[in-house]
Amino acid sequence: MACVYCRSPGQESFAPRAGRLTQAEWAKLLEALRELGVVRVRLTGGEPLLSPEVTAVVRCAADLGFEDIALTTNASRLSPMAGALKTAGLMRVNVSLDSLSSARFRELTRGGQLSAVLAGISAARSQGLELRTNTVVLRGQNDGELEQLASFAWEHSATPRFLEVMAVGQGGCDVQGALVSVAEMRTRLNALLSDGLAQPEIDRGPARYVTSRCGTYRAGFISGMTQSFCEGCDRLRVTSTGEVRACLSMPVGLQLADLVRSGAPRTVLVAKFLEAWGGKPAGDWVGCGSPSARAVTMRAVGG
Ligand code: SF4
Repeated sequence: MACVYCRSPGQESFAPRAGRLTQAEWAKLLEALRELGVVRVRLTGGEPLLSPEVTAVVRCAADLGFEDIALTTNASRLSPMAGALKTAGLMRVNVSLDSLSSARFRELTRGGQLSAVLAGISAARSQGLELRTNTVVLRGQNDGELEQLASFAWEHSATPRFLEVMAVGQGGCDVQGALVSVAEMRTRLNALLSDGLAQPEIDRGPARYVTSRCGTYRAGFISGMTQSFCEGCDRLRVTSTGEVRACLSMPVGLQLADLVRSGAPRTVLVAKFLEAWGGKPAGDWVGCGSPSARAVTMRAVGG
């Protein structure tokens, strides 16, 4: 897929295959992260299910004792893979779902097939994977579908989440005119959700959750633009070519691939991760709106 808020027109090609880490190389990085005490890992993309080694990487993370192993995917290839991923140790899946209209979905994703994504959601549910849907809300596109998307998620045992479109990458900057604030999303979902303050999950990322009026369900909101959540951010990202980045909104990082390939001992990799961690921006950083965010290539670093 080549979603409109991720890529500008004309950027629909795939990232080059050269230089991507192998499963054995991912294993070395995961071992170093475990040694540092990291307990949660999420496989993102681009699209992680395009990697032929994704199941092996999940298995490796499970064998190393990661307590939380999650995947963010467009789910178009999830249906035939969900069983193997679950067996390998996958626990949670976040699925991008921007519309329940096939035509709008195809338009927003530049060619995505909604039916394949819905099959992927069903397969993940059948496997007992914990499910969340992620909807980037765009004015004039899918902002009239929020109630429908929330109800769909709840009917499929998933937690819906609604995201402000972030000015990350050229695509995200191009569509800032379509930004819908979390406050407006809450208003649009007023009939379904309680009025209380949205609450974060401790140590579980930037989303804030509200319970449904019936008290049974939840919906999450991610306010990258109108309310920064950088303070307290505890994420490190590793690109498919082995670059560690301290922040989604910074287009540069520390390259570890050569070290891994030359057989550097784990202590060296651990030290490099600590060095990368030291590059975390200060607490007043507003990453998603920073000028550096425009230069990030989302297909290389994931969401
Ligand atoms: S923009 Fe950077 S610092 Fe802010 S939440 Fe995202 S990754 Fe963390």
